[in-house]
Amino acid sequence: MPNYNIRISGIKDGNHEYFFNINEKFFESFVGSEVTNCVIKVNCNLFKDGNKLKLFLHVEGNILNFNCDLCAGSINLSIVNSIDVLLQETESEMEDTDEIIYIQSNQSHIDISQLIYETIILSIPSKIEHSGVENDICDKEMMVLLDKYAEKKEINDPRWGDLNKLKDLI
Ligand SMILES: [Zn+2]
Repeated sequence: MPNYNIRISGIKDGNHEYFFNINEKFFESFVGSEVTNCVIKVNCNLFKDGNKLKLFLHVEGNILNFNCDLCAGSINLSIVNSIDVLLQETESEMEDTDEIIYIQSNQSHIDISQLIYETIILSIPSKIEHSGVENDICDKEMMVLLDKYAEKKEINDPRWGDLNKLKDLI
């Protein structure tokens, strides 16, 4: 995996911009990731003002080979997301939060790969469905099969059996 280290010590005040291209290689080190392939551009902006360090991250692109909730077919998700965090020096062991990442006073670089990963994962919408526009359509045959399977499952569900018995009694 390429390196996603950003220098944070000995830099001038002002903006420091970095660009990264994220593809499938990136996810190899994130075992069990629901995203495995993508074409995403990352724009990272480190802003230094005296002792203050602020990191701004913008991700934009496409997650590839995701599965549609409706037809289970392959889908390309276009995503966009931004976050900003404060880099705060600390001498003690502190747990990072959504707003603050703690750094050591002698730390020269920060690895932002985990932050990039989280920003991509958080950009995934809760509903993933083919849009129905042009070629981005659901596999109708597959939907019928899935429906049949779901019905079968419902009938085999023991709770339904009990309910049916109850119905027979009434
Ligand atoms: Zn679909």
